[in-house]
Amino acid sequence: MKTKQHFILILLAAVVIIAAISLFLLIGIRPEGIPVLNYHEVVKNDEDNPLALSVKEFDEQMAYLHRNGYKAITPDELLAYIGQGRQLPAKSVLITFDDGYRDNYTNAFPVLKKYGFTATIFLITDFVGNDDWYLNWQQVREMQRAGIVFGSHTLNHIPLVGVPPAEVLFQLQKSKEGIEWRLGVPVNYLAYPTGAYDAQVCQLVRQAGYKAAFSVDFGRVTQASKVYALERVPIFKSRWSFYDFYLRLNYTSLIEKAKWVKQWLSQI
Ligand SMILES: [Zn+2]
Repeated sequence: MKTKQHFILILLAAVVIIAAISLFLLIGIRPEGIPVLNYHEVVKNDEDNPLALSVKEFDEQMAYLHRNGYKAITPDELLAYIGQGRQLPAKSVLITFDDGYRDNYTNAFPVLKKYGFTATIFLITDFVGNDDWYLNWQQVREMQRAGIVFGSHTLNHIPLVGVPPAEVLFQLQKSKEGIEWRLGVPVNYLAYPTGAYDAQVCQLVRQAGYKAAFSVDFGRVTQASKVYALERVPIFKSRWSFYDFYLRLNYTSLIEKAKWVKQWLSQI
């Protein structure tokens, strides 16, 4: 008899704990802030590379954003939202690409145009025009004329943490100047190569004259975000690319919390 009572008690406790965890996760479901999507390559044929979406997959994702009334914004608009508290449409999204692959022009750009979306591309300036893999300045200029924004991803993609400050500053300033000289507009935004940054790097980014920098810390940008460590939502190719994208976009905070819960569980 006692064993049965114990069993029921344990069962009840388990139900209460599961309900509490579910409630905790559900509270965090409604996403706050602006998603900054982070893409890399968009390729013609399916590749076994998590950073290379097929054109079809990319088109599906852009079609979803279009169908659901999303407005693609620029980093300037995002910064006004953070710094000056300017309101943005509820369904705003910032679409970013890192590394400046040539397929951003040949494959992603036509899709962006089709849905009327702008995007921001972070260039590795030493690689521009070097080979067929990367964009050339002519393509960059054509996209700029169509409203695409360009930022820096350093001169040669060196992760900036642990590098002497003078070298970090050189990377930041020279890449910025290089794009400004080619495009004739100020370059105010950086994406950290591999997402690596620390307090010293942030200070140097500010010193080099950038207004903000994007990390790969998972999450949405809110008005409480740090401008030199802006969160992004990386989008990967997977067997279920669309559902992965859908969950990351619509349940960003849930995924964030799930990660936190997972880490917490692994520590206890
Ligand atoms: Zn990169």
